[in-house]
Amino acid sequence: MSDVLRELLARRPWLLADGGMGSSLFDRGLEAGYAPELWNAEHPERITDVHRGFVAAGADIILTNSFGGTRHRLRLHQADGRVGELNELAGRIARAAAATAGRDVVIAGSMGPTGEILEPLGPLTVEEATTSFAEQAQALARGGVDVLWIETLSSSEELGAAIAGAGSTSLPIVSTFSFDSNGRTMMGIAPAELAAIHRRTHLLGCGSNCGTGPAELVASIVSLAAASDPDAILVAKGNCGIPRYVDGAIRFDGTPALMASYACLALDAGARIIGGCCGTTAEHLRAMKEALEVYVRGSRPDAETIESRLGPLTAGTRALFGGAADPGSGNGRDNRAGHGGRRRALHRAFAAE
Ligand SMILES: [Zn+2]
Repeated sequence: MSDVLRELLARRPWLLADGGMGSSLFDRGLEAGYAPELWNAEHPERITDVHRGFVAAGADIILTNSFGGTRHRLRLHQADGRVGELNELAGRIARAAAATAGRDVVIAGSMGPTGEILEPLGPLTVEEATTSFAEQAQALARGGVDVLWIETLSSSEELGAAIAGAGSTSLPIVSTFSFDSNGRTMMGIAPAELAAIHRRTHLLGCGSNCGTGPAELVASIVSLAAASDPDAILVAKGNCGIPRYVDGAIRFDGTPALMASYACLALDAGARIIGGCCGTTAEHLRAMKEALEVYVRGSRPDAETIESRLGPLTAGTRALFGGAADPGSGNGRDNRAGHGGRRRALHRAFAAE
C-alpha cells in the first residue's frame, strides 16, 4: 500500500489539491452530455494536458478523470462494460503525467455518485451500489492510484456503499460531500454528520467539495472542524465562484485573487488539503499556492469574516455555523428540491457529473 499522502501530510502543514477536471475538459472541447471518462481512451493527451497544468501550478494531489466511472454512470453512455478499462486508464494517465514533476505527487482515484438514489428512497440497493463502487475502486487500484477519493456525494447511505466498495482494495480513502443546499447536502446531511462518519469509518480524510461558491465551502469546513477531532485531516475543494449562465453556457466568475483568499480562509478554517473544484484552472491554482506559501495561519474565521472576503452565506449555513445547530434536525431535510437541487443540476450539467 502506498502511503505517499500520509507521508506528505506528516511533513507539510498543508497540501495543494488540483482544480476542476470536468470544467477543464469543457475548455478542451468536451461537449455537454458526453462522458469525460471516454476521453481516457479517445483523447488521453487532453487529460494529460490538464493534469500537467495542475502539477506545474504546484498541485501535490491530482484527481483522476474517473468521476463518472461506475457502471451505473457509464451505462448512460452504453459503456458500462468498460469500467475496468476506463478507470485503469485514468490511473495510468495521471501517474504518467505526474512522473516528470520531480517531486511526490499523490494520484487520487476520483469516485463520484452512481447518479441513482439508494433504498429506501430509491431503487438502488446498498449491495448493488457497493459492487459498483468496488468494481471501479479495483480498476483504479490496478491503474496505480495512491488513494481513493470519493467526492460530491450527498447521502450517507451512498457514502457507506462507496466506502465499503473502496475498502475492497487496501488503499486509503478520502471522502468529500457537496454541501450545496442551504449548508447541507442535497439529501439533508450537515457537516457534523460527515465528521461522525469520518470518526466511525477510519477515512484518511474528509471534507467538502463543489457546492455553491467559496464562502459556503469555507463555512462548511468551519462546521466540519468544530465537530471533528483536532487532528482530523480536512479537505476543502471549492468551486471557482458561483456558477452563472452566460450566453447559454455555464461560467464560473471567481478570479485568481478570490481563490487565493478562499485558500487562506480554508486553511484558517482547519483544512489541511486545499484545492479547487469546477471552474478552477491552473492559473487559479497558482495564485492559491503563492498566497498559501506566504500566509501565516490565523484563527478560525467567523461568518462576518467569510462574508466580507468571499461573499454572502445562506441562512441555513449561518444557522449551522460552528456546529451550533443540531445536525439531525432543522429544515434542511425539507430543502431537497429547493434551490440547492437546482444548483446541483447546474453543476451536473457543467461537470458532466
Ligand atoms: Zn465541482
